[in-house]
This record gives sequence, C-alpha cells and structure tokens, in this order.
Amino acid sequence: MKKCKGLLSLLLIGMLVTILSACGQDAVNESANKGEGDSDDNRLKIGLSVSDLTLERWQHDRDFFVEKAEELGAEVLVQSADGDEAKQLSQIQNMLSQDIDTLVIIAINSDALSTVVDQAKAEGISVLSYDRLINGTDIDAYVSFDNVRVGEMQAEYLTEQVPSGKYFLMGGSPTDNNAKLFREGQMNILQPLVDSGDIEIVGDQWVKNWDANEALKIMENALTANKNEVDAVVASNDSTAGGAIQALEAQGLDGKVAISGQDADLAGVQRIAEGTQTMTIYKPIKEIATKSAEVAVQLAKGEDVTADSSINNGKMDVPFIKLDPIQVNKENLEETVIDDGFHTFEDVYKNVPESERPTSP
Ligand code: BGC
Repeated sequence: MKKCKGLLSLLLIGMLVTILSACGQDAVNESANKGEGDSDDNRLKIGLSVSDLTLERWQHDRDFFVEKAEELGAEVLVQSADGDEAKQLSQIQNMLSQDIDTLVIIAINSDALSTVVDQAKAEGISVLSYDRLINGTDIDAYVSFDNVRVGEMQAEYLTEQVPSGKYFLMGGSPTDNNAKLFREGQMNILQPLVDSGDIEIVGDQWVKNWDANEALKIMENALTANKNEVDAVVASNDSTAGGAIQALEAQGLDGKVAISGQDADLAGVQRIAEGTQTMTIYKPIKEIATKSAEVAVQLAKGEDVTADSSINNGKMDVPFIKLDPIQVNKENLEETVIDDGFHTFEDVYKNVPESERPTSP
C-alpha cells in the first residue's frame, strides 16, 4: 500500500511538472538543430514578449518574427500578456530565468518596464524595444515605424475628405508611447485648421488597451453629447475604428462620418472596401518583424547594430531603425495591401457585391 502511494505521488509530481512547464511558455521552437554541430545548449535564444496576441496585428508580427529568427538559427520563446501589465512583467521575469540572449518586448505600458529591463541588462541580456518605445532605461535598439508620420497621414487624409466640420479624437491606449506619437502627428495637421476655425474638435478620449468595446462606448457617448453632429473621427487604429463604426452604424451614420484607422487589419480593409471606414495605415509587418529578428540575432551574437536615427526615451538616445508607413484608402487597396500579399483580393472584397468590385486582377 505504502509503495503504491509512493508510486502515485511520483506520478502526480510528474504530471504537475509537465503541466507547469507547459503553462510557463506559450510557444517555444523546439525544432531540431539547424546549424551543424550545434547543440540546444549553444543555440541563440530569444525571448519575445508580446503585449496582446488577441489583436490581429500582433499575430502577424509573431509569425514573421519567429520565422526569420529560426531561419537565422535562433530559438524563440514567445509569450502573450493579453493586455495585462502585471502578466507581462512576470512573463518577462520568467524569461530572464530561461537563459535567453536577447529580450524583445512589445510593451503594454511604455513607462512600467524600466526595472525589469535594468535587470535583464545587469544579467548581460540585450534588449530590443519592438514597435513601442520603452522609456527611462537602457535599450539596445528600437525598431518601429515613423509613428508621428502615421498620425499625420491619418489627419491629412481625413482633412482632405472633410476640410471643415466637427472632429472627434479617439486616441489609443494611454499607456502606449505610440498612442502619444500618433496624437502628436495628428495635431501637427489639425492644429492649424483649428486655429483657422475650419475645424472644431468636439471631443478627445483615449481608449484603454486599444479595446474595441471601450471605443464603442466612447463613440456612443460622444454621439449623444454632440447630438450626432460629428463629421469626422480620428481613430488611431483599426480595432478602435471598428468599435466606433459600430456606434455610428447604430445611428445610421456609418459611411457618412469619415473615420481613420491603422494596421490594415482584415476587418479594417473590408470596411474600407464597403465604404464604412475612410482609410487605414499599412505598416508592412513583415518588414518590422524580419528586421527586428535580424537585429535581435545580431544583438544575441554581441554584434553592433546600425541605425540611421535615434529617439530619446528619457534616459538615453536609443538607436532607432525607422520604417515608413503607407496610407491606404478605397482607391489604392489593390496596389498596397493586396499587391503586397498582406490580404487577398477575395478576402478584402468578400462583403462587396461582385458587380461593385473592381475587376479582379
Ligand atoms: C501599434 C499599432 C496597434 C496598437 C494596438 C500600437 O502600439 O503601433 O499598430 O494598432 O498598438 O495594438
């Protein structure tokens, strides 16, 4: 009986260890060694901490990043914090104990990671800030798009379509450094028009975690407060635009109020094809993901990284590899996201009657 109990405990411990190790990491590339004579022990190891894999955009980033890093012979450990700041912190801490060479972070809160990054640096791990800048600490490299330019492009296109009228500003997540840069760019274009009296800003809100439901509620309230008199909505990305468009639809205003977006999410470009969203910004994800994977591997090998510009994060001038965003509207859907293979013609025009589609290529 005693022996039986002992065996049972061993079995339970074994099961527990298996479960715990499965929980600890969402995805590890365990594929066989690629380099000749490499052993798992001396393979470069990269930790990729993703803010939120439930948003479409980051799934593409993850896939391209892992593919490139593996091609370069590295192993990637991926974890998603699902928009939870505390979870991101503990996941990063957990990665630090897994012998990684480079830590790549897509931050939820740009101001809350300096301590854990300091810890990584103290342990000799290099750190790359992916898409979103991490403030107040030493970072080896930052790879992103020109985020101020993103905001300018959003406001430029909207003001071309709606040169005068009432504008509502739907900012992104208040803890995301990019959200502030997008707003800076938007105001570069909007402020002169506010000063000249051409446009009036009737409201200004920020959407926690870029959450579509939150955006829906904010838009509902904005419409009520303004008696539905809104001519344009400067939404900072496609998920928030999607929520806002639902609120517009409930009032029969979808397609009548101009609205921006960003990311060229499939849902976003479908809305552009249908006419309920005015524009989006396409940031070739393959470019940022593959560039970041290359830089992460270089850093892991202790090599120097070259960057054309830099950005100050409150602590230092961080080497900034800056990529160009592309403006997408109903007229250029094909030559941008479709020609680039980001989405197929069939997917983009799925909800548009055949007779109203441009001729398929
Ligand atoms: C990114 C956007 C994205 C947003 C929400 C920002 O930091 O730059 O592309 O839409 O986060 O995930």
